[in-house]
Amino acid sequence: MKKIAVVGTGYVGLVTGVCLSDIGHHVTCVDIDERKVEKMKQGISPIYEPGLDELMKRNIERGRLHFTTSHEEAFRDAEVIYIAVGTPQKEDGSADLRFVEQAARDIGAHIERDGVVIATKSTVPVGTNEKIRAWIQQHLQRPVRFDIVSNPEFLREGSAIYDMFHGDRIVIGAGNERAAAVIEEVNKPFGIPIFKTDIYSAEMIKYASNAFLATRISFINEIANICEKVGANVEDVAYGMGLDTRIGPQFLRAGIGYGGSCFPKDTKALVQIAGDVDHQFELLEAVIKVNNKQQLKLVEKARSRFGSLRGKRVALLGLAFKPNTDDMRQAASIVIARELLQDGASVAAYDPVATENAKRIIGDEVVYASSVEEALTDADLAMIVTEWEEIKQLPLDLYAKYMKTPIVFDGRNCYPLEEVKKHAIEYHSIGRQSVL
Ligand code: NAD
Repeated sequence: MKKIAVVGTGYVGLVTGVCLSDIGHHVTCVDIDERKVEKMKQGISPIYEPGLDELMKRNIERGRLHFTTSHEEAFRDAEVIYIAVGTPQKEDGSADLRFVEQAARDIGAHIERDGVVIATKSTVPVGTNEKIRAWIQQHLQRPVRFDIVSNPEFLREGSAIYDMFHGDRIVIGAGNERAAAVIEEVNKPFGIPIFKTDIYSAEMIKYASNAFLATRISFINEIANICEKVGANVEDVAYGMGLDTRIGPQFLRAGIGYGGSCFPKDTKALVQIAGDVDHQFELLEAVIKVNNKQQLKLVEKARSRFGSLRGKRVALLGLAFKPNTDDMRQAASIVIARELLQDGASVAAYDPVATENAKRIIGDEVVYASSVEEALTDADLAMIVTEWEEIKQLPLDLYAKYMKTPIVFDGRNCYPLEEVKKHAIEYHSIGRQSVL
């Protein structure tokens, strides 16, 4: 078992560190955020991720999982260092490598052990690992032999722990066999298929995968938009398409588009990466454009239904960018809430876990309800934004019971149309006929 340091304890770094300690490694997680580190030392996760708290506590108690703000303490003795800091989007859409560069400088300044392997989990443009190598080299305080590995992360927020133990593949991009073998050995206990390649290809696999998944979403959403006009049902269309094994059923759910901390920024970054080598990635540009429009689909439908939304009270059900997470980054709810407020509507929003994060982003013009019922009370219309199980399971009677007028715009197709028809509500969804 190895001595491992993880730099950055966000959704990727913390889950990685906790799971690596659970399979037996000795892990020290380092973050610059003192408040986060204090919490984690007490076994409290700063993020909502099912199963994470329990696993964290267990491995802290076993003495295999440590947290610190000191890069020196984390790197001094490490055999493997994972870089898992954020790579947010810059104004022009390209990836901001500021945090990665700082992490590399810190690594250079503090590594001592010959043969240490630095593996990058952060999503970084092709060629960045070579830059990381140079940044580390420039900051070495003594001659230390080290290797760089690209090890992109594919976990999904909301099922991150499950994905760590049951992912489809682990990609290892390395410049030499020894470095690849070290990362392979670290991951062996997970029992997940490993694909080894060169560094550039590994970096590209991550962007190409996210771009492809985003393409499937925008594709089915465009089909949904056409279905509405020609009288077809997108759920049946997607099912029928998915039966073809060349297509498969995954990622064909029509809705109000993708959000989150990865797809929006990674698609834009890939357009930039292509642009940097004089290639215009027209297909991906269209995917992004379609998604931006799709996020406002419910507002558009409500506007044409009501004429004007001025003075209307809107219940917004779900705020997080997807269920089972408190992550609000690039959530559709943000643009929807802003647009509704701009139209002069009032908004009462409910989310089971993302409310605190939402307040920081959307602000206090929205009323944050503590239950679905409270959000629905006296509403003129409801918009389903995130398909939380709690929202999907909501008895349809409740809309009529609590709302002023039970008019529902469902952005995630939570209810079967046959079920809706049995209740006294007006229902508009994505890619399906409205129930009036
Ligand atoms: P995050 O923003 O949640 O966390 C990043 C953490 O790094 C923060 O806690 C921050 O304080 C810390 N940090 C920044 N600079 C530091 C430094 N010099 N030393 C120590 N800590 C530092 O980010 P995230 O969502 O975990 O994403 C991390 C990377 O993984 C990104 O590149 C992202 O694209 C990629 N990724 C994310 C997901 C996901 O679902 N969130 C999935 C796959 C890949």
